[in-house]
Order: sequence, then structure tokens, then C-alpha cells
Amino acid sequence: FIIVEDLHKSFRNADGDVEVLKGINLKLDRGDIFGVVGFSGAGKSTLIRCLNGLETPDRGSVRIGENEITNTSKKALNHYRKKIGMIFQNFNLFDSRTVFGNVAYPLEIAGYDKKKIRNRVEELLELVELSQKVNCHMGQLSGGQKQRVGIARALANHPQVLLSDEATSALDPQTTLSVLDLLKDINRKLGLTIILITHELDVIKYSCKNMAVLENGIIVERGSVREIFQNPGSDTARLFVKINA
Ligand code: ATP
Ligand code: MG
Repeated sequence: FIIVEDLHKSFRNADGDVEVLKGINLKLDRGDIFGVVGFSGAGKSTLIRCLNGLETPDRGSVRIGENEITNTSKKALNHYRKKIGMIFQNFNLFDSRTVFGNVAYPLEIAGYDKKKIRNRVEELLELVELSQKVNCHMGQLSGGQKQRVGIARALANHPQVLLSDEATSALDPQTTLSVLDLLKDINRKLGLTIILITHELDVIKYSCKNMAVLENGIIVERGSVREIFQNPGSDTARLFVKINA
């Protein structure tokens, strides 16, 4: 369902070009919750940004369903991007808006009328169990509640894919579990394909069946979470398993 082929991305800095993604290949089934683990600087955020077109890769391609995300027009890309939700470690919510205002935002951009927006926001807040907080400001919410707002906003335009970049890294273990349970629930109810990018192996162990290990811009290992835990085949996986033992 998601096919990444030979993805390369370099950034130019003071010392010249640094290759951050060095030929990523990935295949994901529709409806999967897929984990990508890697240490800081491995290229996780860059990879996820290439998946939703926020970064343009130097080489290679990303296909999601029927759609080619790379090598496409800006207009087409804007259209596909609506079908890809994203959640972040620092939530990326508007502090000046209420819960309603944040979840409504992508619907306003999409140009829906007020009534439709209100109905959809109500539906989404019910899904993430935040209906009581509809008029609250961000400062009045806990981290877990903020991430639920982030999830509701990400789902607003009925995406087929949800990308999570360290979405639970700022949360305590109990809140992390409740957010992961919500994601599992959404995956089951909506058939959404989810990619969880994280440096927390526990998160992947709890949520995913299949995973890949990213090391220095290369996928050094992929397979079932159980296999990789039992028999880690890369330095990164061995270290992660050791830390988590
Ligand atoms: P973390 O776990 O700390 O979030 P990461 O695996 O998400 O790390 P990336 O954010 O993808 O790592 O960054 C990988 C490398 O690419 C880093 O060395 C970073 O400095 C570099 N990099 C990322 N974005 C840019 C950019 N826009 N310009 C220059 N360098 C960048
Ligand atoms: Mg990152």
C-alpha cells in the first residue's frame, strides 16, 4: 500500500552536502501499524517528511495507494497531503485557538461550510473522547489531551495514512499507553494505515507487528517485531534491545 523506493535526501550545510537518507526501501500493507525505530539523527523525521511531501527527495519515489507523492505537481501533492494525517512530539497545535478551533482548522482550509465543520468536529472529538473540552484553550489541557486534539485534527479530512513522529515521546508511560490504545482503536475502526516513528522501542513493541530499523539513513533491518526482539541483526537493534531489557 505504501511503497518507498531508493529514497535519497541530502542537506547542504557549512561543511557541504550531508546525505541523510541513503536509499530507503520500504513496503507496507494497508491497515498495518508499522514501526520505524532509530537513534537521534538517523533520519527518521526526514523520512516521514518525505512521505507526506514536506521534503522533496533528491532521488527515489514514494507511492501511497494509487498516488505518486514524489515527482508530481504541486496541486496534486496538496490534494494527496489532505489524505495523510500527521502528529508530532510537540503537538504543533495553535495555542491561540480552542480545541474546536484546532480541529476545525484543516476543515476551514478545505472550505467546508460552518455546519459541516461543526458536525465533523463533534464526531472527531467523540472519537478521541474530548467532547467535554471543546471550548478549552491549549493551556488548559494535559499533554495527553493535547495529543488527542492533534489526532482529531490529523483525522479531520479522512486520511488513509497517519504518520506519527515521536508523538508519545513527551508523554509519561500511562498517557503514552492511552494514546497508543487510541491509535490502535482508530486503526481497527477506520482501517487507517499508521507509521509510528520513535526512539522508544517499547512503543513499537506495544503497538506494531512489523518494524524497520533506521541507522544513519539506511534501513539496516526489517521484519516482525517479535523476530527483531528475539534476534536483533543490527547494532542499533541490539542496543535498543539491551536498553529495553
Ligand atoms: P531525532 O530522533 O533527534 O528527531 P531524527 O532521526 O528525526 O532525529 P532527522 O531530524 O531526520 O533525524 O535529521 C537527520 C540529520 O539531518 C541530522 O543530522 C540533521 O541535522 C539533518 N537535517 C535535518 N533536516 C535538515 C535541514 N532542513 N537542513 C540541514 N540539515 C538537516
Ligand atoms: Mg526526529
